[in-house]
Amino acid sequence: MHSLYYGSLLWPSAGGEPARYPPLSGDAERCDVLIVGGGLTGTLTAHALLAAGLSVCLIEADRIGRGSSAASTGLLQYSNDIMLTDLLSQLGEDRAVYFYRACKDAVERLCHLAELLPEDIAFKRRSSLYYASVPADVPKLRKEYETLRAHGFSVDWRDEADIRADFPFRKPAALITNGDGEMNPYRMAVRLAEQAGVQGMRIYERTALQSVKGSKGDLSCHTTGGIIKTAAVVYAVGYRPEMAGSDRIAVKLGRTSVIATRIVPSLADWHQRWLLWETARPYLYARTTQDGRIVIGGLDEDIRHPVRSKDELAPYAAGLLEQARQLFPGLHLEAEFAWNAAFGESKDQLPWIGEDPDRPGRYLALGYGGNGAVYSMLASMVLLDAVQGRANPLDGIVGLGNRRTGPLK
Ligand SMILES: Cc1cc2nc3c(=O)[nH]c(=O)nc-3n(C[C@H](O)[C@H](O)[C@H](O)COP(=O)(O)OP(=O)(O)OC[C@H]3O[C@@H](n4cnc5c(N)ncnc54)[C@H](O)[C@@H]3O)c2cc1C
Repeated sequence: MHSLYYGSLLWPSAGGEPARYPPLSGDAERCDVLIVGGGLTGTLTAHALLAAGLSVCLIEADRIGRGSSAASTGLLQYSNDIMLTDLLSQLGEDRAVYFYRACKDAVERLCHLAELLPEDIAFKRRSSLYYASVPADVPKLRKEYETLRAHGFSVDWRDEADIRADFPFRKPAALITNGDGEMNPYRMAVRLAEQAGVQGMRIYERTALQSVKGSKGDLSCHTTGGIIKTAAVVYAVGYRPEMAGSDRIAVKLGRTSVIATRIVPSLADWHQRWLLWETARPYLYARTTQDGRIVIGGLDEDIRHPVRSKDELAPYAAGLLEQARQLFPGLHLEAEFAWNAAFGESKDQLPWIGEDPDRPGRYLALGYGGNGAVYSMLASMVLLDAVQGRANPLDGIVGLGNRRTGPLK
């Protein structure tokens, strides 16, 4: 049983068997940066560091992409769990808008990168329909629409009749964000690792980091297979924050559930196959796949470990199937895959990305939140600057030092 999820996952089931990498046996050659964790965050960061000419080594305790990236639903959205309107109060206008623009830019970069990767990552550009779950949420959503629009984001508004014209369900109103996307997150990590391998990155699977000794520029990383000497370590360890060894991060771990239906003969009822989510917290999130399935997730709970048996998973799968049937009553839906997975959020709803001020040379890349994949891309950009000694305007927002508010300098 995997400690990050339980059940049958959709993404690894599609496509051929990915490349395997050997475990480390004996000490390895020195590198500029050691990346710990071969999920989306680790592989995207590897991609950025290699492109800058750094020598990179990556270790993965299990198999590439088999952590939370394999359990993700693969929605690529710049609009965050925390609305821009709320982030304005939390961070001040400059920082909040800068952060949202950085997320939009990260989605754009993911889209460009995805378009260059093999087709099995099933990338597609999509808009998102963010609907008000209840009439009382409409004013808040309308304000978000106006705030996004005022800051130049491409958004549209739909009232109840507009939604009814496009979908079989009734919702009081919705905000449409344009420029989002979808993909198979597992295949993306696998393909990025393959590409990085071709570019000379050394990859060791079934090799876990145990401890790091030494000082910045001269670190000795003790792993289950031997020692790796490096100038810097990136902890891209996903929802295993204890592996990153920093006291500075405040994380709330819970769990979420997902089903993928059998292939549906026609999804004509699903307007432009938009990504769907809602204002309720916790929220439902739904999308389609290229082969014509519906993937729907939600029913989040504040329980740290995933369910442990078929019997425990069954009510969540049934609940999600019921939700999908309510949204699309004309479709004959049956669940083919169902899983329950660990999920992490930071207390301020922002990722943790940057050098640990208490342990120079150690960099964290923890993209906690519903936009985890977008945060993975942000991590790759911020950490490229960080390991090369450059400041990034996001440092004071996502970094591990004091997270700041007010105008950006
Ligand atoms: C059900 C679900 C749905 C989601 N849906 C979305 C979505 O629609 N859109 C979105 O943007 N995000 C979504 N997310 C979040 C997104 O999946 C994650 O943010 C992202 O996959 C995290 O990637 P990662 O590389 O940081 O973590 P992981 O993929 O978990 O990779 C971390 C890796 O580190 C390895 N590791 C840990 N410790 C060590 C060690 N000591 N030594 C070596 N290796 C180690 C693990 O084995 C693991 O493979 C979802 C998450 C879940 C669970």
